[in-house]
Amino acid sequence: MGAPPTRPADRAFARPRRRPIAALAALAALLAVGAGVLVGLSTPAPRPADAPESDFSAARAFRNVEVIAAEPHVAGSAANDRVREHLVGTLRGLGLQTEVQDAVAPEAGQLSGAAGGAALARVRNVVARLPGTDPTGKVFLVSHYDSVQTGPGGNDDAAGTATILEVARALTTGPRPRNDVVFVLTDAEEACLCGAAGFAADHPLARDGGVVLNLEARGFTGPVIMFETSRDNAKLVEIFGKAAPHPVGTSFAVEIYRALPNDTDFTAFLDRDFVGLNSAYIDGGAIYHTPLDVPARMDRGSLQMHGDNALGLTREFGRTDLGDLRAGHDDTYFPVLGGLISYPGWLTLPLAVAALLAVGALGWLLRRRGRATAGTLAAGFGLTLVPVVVAPLGAWLLWAAITTIRPGYAELLDPYRPVAYRLAVVALAAAVLFCWYALLRRRVGPAALAFGGLAWLAVFGVLLAVAAPGGAYLTTLPALAGALAGFAALATRPDGPWPVGAVTLAAAVAVVILLPPVVLLFPALGMGMGAVAALVAVLLGLAVLPVVDLLHPRAGGQRGLLALRARRLGALPAAAAALAAAVLAGVGLAVDRFDAEHPVPTHLMYALDAGTGKAAWLSHEERPQPWTDGYVDRSISLADDFPGLGDGEMRAGPAAAASLPAPKLDLLSDSTSGDQRVLRVRVVPQRQVRLLTLHVDTSTATVRSATVAGRDVPVEPGDGRWGFGVVFHAPPPEGVEVTLTLVPRGGAVSVRAMDASDGLSGVPGFRPRPEGVGVVGSHSSEMLAVARTYPL
Ligand SMILES: [Zn+2]
Repeated sequence: MGAPPTRPADRAFARPRRRPIAALAALAALLAVGAGVLVGLSTPAPRPADAPESDFSAARAFRNVEVIAAEPHVAGSAANDRVREHLVGTLRGLGLQTEVQDAVAPEAGQLSGAAGGAALARVRNVVARLPGTDPTGKVFLVSHYDSVQTGPGGNDDAAGTATILEVARALTTGPRPRNDVVFVLTDAEEACLCGAAGFAADHPLARDGGVVLNLEARGFTGPVIMFETSRDNAKLVEIFGKAAPHPVGTSFAVEIYRALPNDTDFTAFLDRDFVGLNSAYIDGGAIYHTPLDVPARMDRGSLQMHGDNALGLTREFGRTDLGDLRAGHDDTYFPVLGGLISYPGWLTLPLAVAALLAVGALGWLLRRRGRATAGTLAAGFGLTLVPVVVAPLGAWLLWAAITTIRPGYAELLDPYRPVAYRLAVVALAAAVLFCWYALLRRRVGPAALAFGGLAWLAVFGVLLAVAAPGGAYLTTLPALAGALAGFAALATRPDGPWPVGAVTLAAAVAVVILLPPVVLLFPALGMGMGAVAALVAVLLGLAVLPVVDLLHPRAGGQRGLLALRARRLGALPAAAAALAAAVLAGVGLAVDRFDAEHPVPTHLMYALDAGTGKAAWLSHEERPQPWTDGYVDRSISLADDFPGLGDGEMRAGPAAAASLPAPKLDLLSDSTSGDQRVLRVRVVPQRQVRLLTLHVDTSTATVRSATVAGRDVPVEPGDGRWGFGVVFHAPPPEGVEVTLTLVPRGGAVSVRAMDASDGLSGVPGFRPRPEGVGVVGSHSSEMLAVARTYPL
């Protein structure tokens, strides 16, 4: 062990005379700020059914949730027809001009899972209009009313749809807004965002664009987060902060969301140059897209928050001049104790550089005042990387260990009851930080370690400002606050009240800014990426180090037994946090067991080639659960036999052939001119199906162009045998007409048609799941596909 710094004044920045009292006061202040942060992120109390009629009432909205989500209502199904009739009836009952846009629409973006394919759908959007008194533009309230095939969509997106009905009701009770308000309840969002794409591209009301408020849910609880905006959002963010009663939103979420493989209807509007805001509640992701997404599970506080914000924003956008919503820049914004702080995005880099310079100046000052040497400052900076790396690594290992004990977690976005696990990760991050601090504090010195933490925050701020500017505030502002507190502490008497006050204030800034992302990243990313939350927790810990230091005994001055006791006391927080992490992980495992209410998710589908009579069970589980293991025993590539299911690998097993017909292919016309052949065919499903696919064997012909149900589709040859394909969701019973212009390679053109329905209960060999075994929330869960190759 090296010689500890013996300077008695060696505290981080503060050296209060009454250390225990100062430490307790500072900690109490930080806990109060932390509690305030949590309150600011909580949901409002749901309003009762007899709330004033101009208000949003979750109880009133929930009645519509129950009707909309009475059963699964995937696009094209009879259940979806019933939901649509309810929506049309409700909106007409409010006296609104209401119509159904019945169209064939292409997908937004590139989502289709089919090999080499474009996706389309027949959609029926419900569109209602509240004409404005003196419109400057249109406000669009958007949600999707279809559900996935595997669940009733109690939250996703009956929450958004019922919110819009209740907002429409509230708006029709008061004075009419100045601008037009258009309620757009889209179809086939789950399939391909086709409803929104069809509305944004083709509907007359969409022609001049406008401002879109899209409402979603990816779970059943938690605060509504405004997580996505159109570009150049400063004006929109200003209105959001002013008009949303619960403005939880952060420019960091935009950066996170861009890195996730998710999409919503909002994408279709952004593609068409609309402006707007996208909001969702996301906690409770375990039920997302599963049979468990039922109305009864919904947190009505989340519904109230959706409604309060949507109504407040619609009223504000309803009176704003919509002509100039596009400011020249993006804002940085984040929630602060129930409010929203924002500043122009062009300040991001200058602020980050200023924070870096301030922290550098603090280091220089610490050295001049003899609180640290160049060597200890360098050591503080270098060694701070240890917790920054070890805590996320530990969180990742912890989750790997837990999923080894409970393999069913592999298919869940988040555990059913994740709170203990989340706290375990935070405790683990704290244990790593405390342990690191206890080991290094005496050797490197508190001031140099505090400097190291601030320096990394400042460095991250500059890196983020360049790579993900919306997230730079997270580390820039705590670094800046910490540096200023350091200056204040060094400029005043070390044993006076100012140094403690200054470092506590800076730590409070860090809590206000970094605690919300710690809380929100867990549901956003799931426990599988708990490491990201652990990283943010460590950054928060580094920023509050000078306060943590007050808990520690003096770093120097004692000898012998006293010093030993001091060292033991210093190790106490680390030991306590490590113990808490272990206990919390154990509590998580004990509390979150799989049972009938919280089943282990399994994925199974069935695919039949009606031409050859070959059939297979398929599962996307990489390490199949025991139930799934009874069906699948090897990995196969789908590309050759079932291009309509994608070109990836799946687990597969032998299955008996069901007597089910493949879609029929009617040749309507066949003409040749020069080397080109034009085939007009109709693909007709022979049973009730959710989707049709058609693929062309590109070794038999090159596809030049294609038209599906009257719409041109892109022809971008894919890899493999079936190089061209299309998916058509919610096909009408009479089928879909496809015109292919192609150049044959001599001989017949080989075309493969597939359709798919939902539900496996009639399939030979299928055994219903026992209690405690559930269905994965996936677009292919329980799918029954039948394919056949036709030579033409
Ligand atoms: Zn969904």
